[in-house]
Amino acid sequence: MPQVTKILSLCAPDQEKSCFACCPPIRPAGYEHIQYQKTVERFLRENRACFDPSSKEIKPITGYHCWALGYIDDEYKRVGCLLHPAQNKGNDLRFRIDYGDKCRRETCEEEKVFASLETSESFFWLQLADGLDSFTYSSRTLNPLFRMLGWGRHLLQNIAAEEAQKAYSWRAFLQSYPFFSTGYKPRSNAYLVNELIHKNGLHILKTGSFCSKFEAISETVSRKIQHQAQGQADDPFVHQLDLDPYFLDFLRLSGKITKLDRDSAVSLKKIVDDELEQI
Ligand code: SF4
Repeated sequence: MPQVTKILSLCAPDQEKSCFACCPPIRPAGYEHIQYQKTVERFLRENRACFDPSSKEIKPITGYHCWALGYIDDEYKRVGCLLHPAQNKGNDLRFRIDYGDKCRRETCEEEKVFASLETSESFFWLQLADGLDSFTYSSRTLNPLFRMLGWGRHLLQNIAAEEAQKAYSWRAFLQSYPFFSTGYKPRSNAYLVNELIHKNGLHILKTGSFCSKFEAISETVSRKIQHQAQGQADDPFVHQLDLDPYFLDFLRLSGKITKLDRDSAVSLKKIVDDELEQI
């Protein structure tokens, strides 16, 4: 494990790689830079070579590529925003593109979860991305760290505490925790998994029997709440309710319930919790 000396960022964890998945913020669903790596590498080099930090010219983004995205180191390892204050002695030059405010605001759910971890926990989880380059690291499908962050802060903190100081590659981690090689979608299932761990302990994620049993649990509970839910068209969207966000994700993604009033959501939560209690 590396020595814990500083706060880490999910976007720029070390000198070997960076995440540029969300640049530019408007792109087709499912798009990943790695699908077009050769082409993207070429324009990242060109953008760096053509970039003039003294210019104030406003140039809109055209298509799905941003002219301000480029390599930010001489070895062409890390990719980032050439207009960002970190690249310009503190000056924010993002006014030079047409949606600079959107760039300033842009973040992802994974970044929020990562930022909520303690530094030692961040180091533990970053091990899973050791050896990745910036293209693989920026891929939601290929970067195991992104997959794990979808399970949320509590689960990641529990595992980091349990495994404190242990060195893990992704492969070794999956051998210890076969549950995460099953393909269960993190955000759809995080509520159930967290509740079951709370009740039974973290060790269940290490057993093959739980891996197969969990599918039946998830299906049964999801079906039950689908039958009970009676959302109306003028009810609020589920994700806007002030309830446990993991539970709201479960309602929305596993239960396929998009609108519901708060009282009904609380009743459904009781049904789910009672069901889990019996397992
Ligand atoms: S201006 Fe910077 S942050 Fe915005 S899309 Fe371009 S590279 Fe990304």
